[in-house]
Amino acid sequence: MSQTLNSAKLGNFITSFTELIDSNPSEVNVLTNGVGILQDLVAADDWLPEEYARPHPQYYQQFLLHLDPQERFSVVSFVWGPGQITPIHNHTVWGLIGMLRGAEYSQSYALTPQGTLQADGEPIKLEPGKVEAVSPYIGDIHQVRNAFDDKVSVSIHVYGANIGKVSRSVLYEDGTKKDFVSGYSTITNK
Ligand code: FE
Repeated sequence: MSQTLNSAKLGNFITSFTELIDSNPSEVNVLTNGVGILQDLVAADDWLPEEYARPHPQYYQQFLLHLDPQERFSVVSFVWGPGQITPIHNHTVWGLIGMLRGAEYSQSYALTPQGTLQADGEPIKLEPGKVEAVSPYIGDIHQVRNAFDDKVSVSIHVYGANIGKVSRSVLYEDGTKKDFVSGYSTITNK
């Protein structure tokens, strides 16, 4: 572990989020109350171990930081190399995205009555300390990219399942889709 780790912050976050989930909240309740808990975690960029913030030259990385023992939620660090971008995808469960370092753009998509995909509004820029929500209920389809072509960005994601094992979809503008399971990235020692 790196010396800069302030594990108390992640520990406090996990304790608070577990308490929230233990209360059997509705999805609206999770998203409403979870935002503040995640905002506290991403308020300062001084706790994430370096090995969980390491970019890959080719692929954006998703490192598992915590899996609830009952798999009711999972927490990952999402690490963007310069210029990296996701395909258009869904989540199928609620998700909270808190920006820790750098910035990212999220473009929402909606299905048209014809079954094709259409950009829904302008891209949202997420800056450090800000939190955004996704869910099948409020809008679950988006494409995300690093806002920077010349530096790494990192966001912290919380999902309402063991997200690395969830079967979900990459979607195309013509309305076709492809199933995928994201898995988790492997921590490597330098
Ligand atoms: Fe996403």
